[in-house]
Amino acid sequence: MTTAQPDHVRWEDLLPREFEQRLAQLPLVYLPMGLCEPHGHVAAFGLDTHKAVYLCEESARRFGGIVAPTQTYQIHETGYHRPWLKEVMGEVNPRMGSLPPDVVLRLLVYQLRAFVNAGFRAVVVLTGHNANQPDLRLAVEEFRRARDIPIAAVSDPELVLGQFEGDHAGRYEVSQLMYVRPELVDLGRIDDRTTTPLGRFAQGDDAHLATVDEGRAIIEASLDAIKAIVDGCRPLPEADAAFMTFEEAEEVWQRVAARTDEWCTLRE
Ligand SMILES: [Zn+2]
Repeated sequence: MTTAQPDHVRWEDLLPREFEQRLAQLPLVYLPMGLCEPHGHVAAFGLDTHKAVYLCEESARRFGGIVAPTQTYQIHETGYHRPWLKEVMGEVNPRMGSLPPDVVLRLLVYQLRAFVNAGFRAVVVLTGHNANQPDLRLAVEEFRRARDIPIAAVSDPELVLGQFEGDHAGRYEVSQLMYVRPELVDLGRIDDRTTTPLGRFAQGDDAHLATVDEGRAIIEASLDAIKAIVDGCRPLPEADAAFMTFEEAEEVWQRVAARTDEWCTLRE
């Protein structure tokens, strides 16, 4: 077999000619963001990552565009995250891969820089970890003052607002994972919260109500919403954006850093 797989949509999987073809068809890049954090006894730590990856890859297959390497660490433990962790984990080690907001937001600025310099003219940042997206949008806002291209930053529950209610490791999230990565869910572990020293482990009270069908419905509704975002980016700017140096990206970051008092991830 010598031709590239048509379903290869990931930047890291594409050969140069296929990258050029996909870029010419639609110069839009998806950035899936997630992290490892406790999702109860029934679901894998990377739930947020897996759903973001699925949504981005499926969007690229259906609507065009390329999926950037996954950002698998996210903001946690700071601000409002801290009391939440205490509530759902108690003293149990959450075994999580958190980063502080300044690291993630600075990284995001440089990721956007990389996208623009690689030829993309629109960006969809999709985080499976909900609630810190206002800070992602703040970084996007400052970046767009330097390169005014369409950039959306959304969490998956925002995509289905009014249709489904997002949660943490409950009916909503466990349904999503049952659909996108069924092998990473074991509802037979549901009672571990009362029978093991790990306790609740951030498990949602209604996780037992999760179903594959509901997961499919949530994911399909999410994809409809992403399609609307992609359509909303058109027509994409035709001219190449000017190359952004590290120095210029650093100026963008300095403007983001100057607005620290607005970062929601530092507020309880
Ligand atoms: Zn989650």
